[in-house]
Formats: sequence, structure tokens, C-alpha cells
Amino acid sequence: TLVAGVVAVQGDVTEHADAIERAGRAHGREVTVHEIRESGIVPDCDLLAMPGGESTTISRLVHSEGIAAEIRDHVAAGKPLLATCAGLIVASSDANDDRVDELGLLDASVERNAFGRQKDSFEAPLSVTGLDEPYPAVFIRAPAIDAVGECEVLATWDDRPVAVRDGPIIGTAFHPELTPDSRIHGLAFFENDDAAVPADAESR
Ligand code: GLN
Repeated sequence: TLVAGVVAVQGDVTEHADAIERAGRAHGREVTVHEIRESGIVPDCDLLAMPGGESTTISRLVHSEGIAAEIRDHVAAGKPLLATCAGLIVASSDANDDRVDELGLLDASVERNAFGRQKDSFEAPLSVTGLDEPYPAVFIRAPAIDAVGECEVLATWDDRPVAVRDGPIIGTAFHPELTPDSRIHGLAFFENDDAAVPADAESR
């Protein structure tokens, strides 16, 4: 059984846990999901999600709880991380906001709340590299990705990148945990050739 972790200091945690389990089932993998509110759990995780919510809060708490360094080690070991919306902002190398202490994992600069007021929340059918059919993407006060550095752009909306991959990390400006469609979780955790997910779950 694979061990998954959802950074659970703040944000839409249970939705990510459900989506990970659904994606696992779709790929024939059994997954146990832990909610991470303290240090000491991330080192046991094969895969990790950092949810949407409020990036200044998530940033503050992952540092004060000692989880930030563990997330860095997780990514350095090549294990997959899916960072969505506020999670993407925290994982980025530049949030363009002093109140966010970025983890610098994703070679990308982001602009918080980048999509205009009337479009604060919207759903859009998104063409995503690696997916055959458009993905129903839910944007809620979503960031745009300004500079993508070494990142591969997987999707754009309004000519701005909204999904990127940097090695074992996939970052999305939208919320793949809020729709029943678990293909983005599948892409991040079970189909990312740059990420190391143990193939032999029986060894645990
Ligand atoms: N606007 C939020 C932030 O900057 C992110 C919104 C979200 O995660 N839905 O933290």
C-alpha cells in the first residue's frame, strides 16, 4: 500500500484525500492517506499533496510546524508533489508577496489572485498536456504563473500558464480536488515519469 500525505495545516484537505484514493483506484494502486499537521509524517509518505486555501496561512504553518524542510526533502528525493492553488503559491520560487515564505520547489513565479474580479471563480474546460479530453478546471481566486523557469507548461488559460510540471512536482492554479475527475492526481502521482513512486507496493 502506498502512503500519501495531504498537508493539512489549512485548506481543502479531505477533498484531496478523496481524489488521491480515487486516482489510486483508477490506477489499480491501494493508497493510505495521512493528514499532515505536524512534523514526522512526511518522511513516510510516497506522495504528497499541498491543497488550496490561503497561501499566507499555509506558508506560516508549514514553517512553524517543521513541515517545510520535510517537504523539501520529499521533493529532493524525487517523490511526487501535487501543489494546487494556494499550495502552488507556497511551493513556488516567488509568490510576489512578502507574507508568503515560499518553499522554492517549483521554478516559477506566481501572481496571486491574478484572474479578474468578475472571474474570481469560474470553471473552464482546460486542455492539459498528457490528458486526452479537456479537464473541468475550477478556479477560485486563482494565481497565474508568471515566469516558468525550468517548468514545463501543461496548460494555459487566458494566455497564462495555469498548470506546470517541474520534475516530480505538478502545480495547478485551479482545484483538481474539487471535481470528481481525478485525472490530474493520476498525472501527478501515477503517470509522472519524472517522479519516483514505488512500483512494488507489496514490499511494505
Ligand atoms: N487566493 C488564495 C491565495 O492567494 C488562493 C485561493 C485558493 O487556494 N483557492 O492564497
